[in-house]
Amino acid sequence: MRLLFVEDDADIADAVRGNLERSGFAVDLAYDLAEAIAATESQKYDLVLLDLGLPDGDGLALVHRLRRRRDPVPILVLTARDAVSDRVSGLESGADDYLVKPFAHAELVARIRALLRRPAQHLGDRITVGRLAYDPGTGTFAVDGQPFELPRRERALLEALVRRAGWVVQRGTLEDALWGFAEEIESNTLESHVSRLRRRLAQADAGVEIRTFRGLGYMLRAIGG
Ligand code: CA
Repeated sequence: MRLLFVEDDADIADAVRGNLERSGFAVDLAYDLAEAIAATESQKYDLVLLDLGLPDGDGLALVHRLRRRRDPVPILVLTARDAVSDRVSGLESGADDYLVKPFAHAELVARIRALLRRPAQHLGDRITVGRLAYDPGTGTFAVDGQPFELPRRERALLEALVRRAGWVVQRGTLEDALWGFAEEIESNTLESHVSRLRRRLAQADAGVEIRTFRGLGYMLRAIGG
């Protein structure tokens, strides 16, 4: 497995690369956006680890560039900024996951392995779960090929769930998706949005269910899948 690590802080870059190599990954380093773009155009990577604050631009520019080219490479964003709006804009731009600095090496490896295990159709291209299809390029849903329209909050929730279909999505991640709309989140708000979303999915006969993992979060999966 060959990873590209985009990080301008040489000390962090060397330390993380050393740890990743000891965990069995081959790691190329890029110290700025220009190097990262050149690297992704000359070499096929299994995953990109991306720092957002780079000397010659915002790391999200690389995410936009890769997704415009329909490159499905999994992208894990590493960021010192823990502002919710950064995380939300990163997800919308097509990154697959986030880790806020500082992070434990074991956590980084676990996230990388999880992304590498995800089936190819979850990465960049259309995602299909049951009869529900999601196009990450347009952010639209369809059931059996018919457009499936949702109010924006439920759409944001379903988007967060479908991008990690088959995995438990943590409450915090889902609340971030709602927070993107800059409203106070009451403790029961997530539950009420999830139950409305469940009703809509059932009415549309989308062939999916949202399972509750008490205290952890929710998982979208195909019914009987
Ligand atoms: Ca940086």
